[in-house]
Amino acid sequence: MRKSKTLHPTDKGLQVYNLVKDKKIANVQMTAEWEKTLDRIEKDELSKDQFMNDIQHYTAEITSELLSLYIPQENIPQLKCPKCQKHTLIIKAKIAKCADEQCNWILFRITCGIQLSIKDLTLLLTQNKT
Ligand SMILES: [Zn+2]
Repeated sequence: MRKSKTLHPTDKGLQVYNLVKDKKIANVQMTAEWEKTLDRIEKDELSKDQFMNDIQHYTAEITSELLSLYIPQENIPQLKCPKCQKHTLIIKAKIAKCADEQCNWILFRITCGIQLSIKDLTLLLTQNKT
């Protein structure tokens, strides 16, 4: 009987892998890369030091990617375009507009020198159903 396959990478490495593999950011390609890497360690083609290096690099990248993805979405709600009801609005400091160029719906957030807050904008778009 053949020796069963075992993985030798450090526990910490596997912990990191388990943490990120469920995230959307760890896509199929990345997962495949990881499996290749683990395979290479198993065959002694890659040192554990190199592996740990890669992990540190990888987690730093993931962290900055996650931060840039999730932080802005906490403040800006996903609002649907009131015209086409399909696309999400792009909300900027002075305007809110439909993401679809063809629809071209736009709202100027500044009237009489006063900026509509995100909250006002949300109320306006979710309550106005006419
Ligand atoms: Zn639209």
